[in-house]
Amino acid sequence: MRWQTISKKIEVATGQSFNIVSTHLLSGGDINSAFLLRGDNKSYFIKLNNADLITMFEAEFVGLQELAKTQTIRVPKPVVCGQIPEHAYLVLEHIDFGSKNKTSERLLGEQLALMHSQQQPYFGWHRPNTIGSTLQSNIQTTDWLTFWCEQRLAFQLQLLAKKGYTGKLQFDGERLCSDMPALFTHYQPQSSLLHGDLWGGNVAVDQQGRPVIFDPACYYGDRETDLAMTELFGGFSQDFYDAYQTAWPLDSGYGTRKTLYNLYHILNHLNLFGNGYLRQAESMMALILSEIH
Ligand code: ADP
Repeated sequence: MRWQTISKKIEVATGQSFNIVSTHLLSGGDINSAFLLRGDNKSYFIKLNNADLITMFEAEFVGLQELAKTQTIRVPKPVVCGQIPEHAYLVLEHIDFGSKNKTSERLLGEQLALMHSQQQPYFGWHRPNTIGSTLQSNIQTTDWLTFWCEQRLAFQLQLLAKKGYTGKLQFDGERLCSDMPALFTHYQPQSSLLHGDLWGGNVAVDQQGRPVIFDPACYYGDRETDLAMTELFGGFSQDFYDAYQTAWPLDSGYGTRKTLYNLYHILNHLNLFGNGYLRQAESMMALILSEIH
């Protein structure tokens, strides 16, 4: 591994000298290999992947910058990303994690509501990014329903069709897209800065008890999508939800829309990890359709 090349890039980006003391392979990443690069006075968290995936790291880099600008939830500071022969790399500030507690969960709820108060007059973002390793389109539009249908559900369904998932899944998907407006008759989503991939594995707490989020798939959209994802795989406490609701209450129809929003992630899991997610995708579609009709 060309750690010396990466350490030179770190020196250029930070303007400070950096001497490698040790490198450690870390476990835990779904998509990339991760390393801890310890220096004499600072440590960095490095992600590596194939060189052709550099745009994925560029999008993560600017996503972290966009979240950091809000000065709400702590994110690892992005340092530099680029290519070295055979690899794309992303260097982030390394954060030593601590343990969650009631206070950190409450803080996460309050700070997430504040982050969501960062808004734009459009849905989307200035560039595509990835969700897992799947391309995520973020073409800006002022119509949320068109955005959610075309760039989220239909996009995943088209990928699935290419993998042979035709028939009922596609048929129900089309019905969902055309009938979806029924879930929005009394609700007009605002366009909030989203983490975009807010499952428990992308949230931690630093040594001072401050919440940290990382690995974002940022765009501007309905804040209910972030909340829905926290519920999809669990790991968030009632203190978190209570604090969020106190800071910025959710609309009473959130419960009927959250399956529609989580369907996107389950379709993506079906695309990435295969058949094990088919039944869940089908039953989510059936549930949404039954709530509409
Ligand atoms: P991937 O993109 O491969 O899914 P993640 O960004 O989710 O990788 O990181 C994998 C794991 O590494 C996380 O679950 C977390 O425990 C740890 N991690 C991520 N970012 C940092 C960081 N900046 N400092 C320390 N540990 C981190």
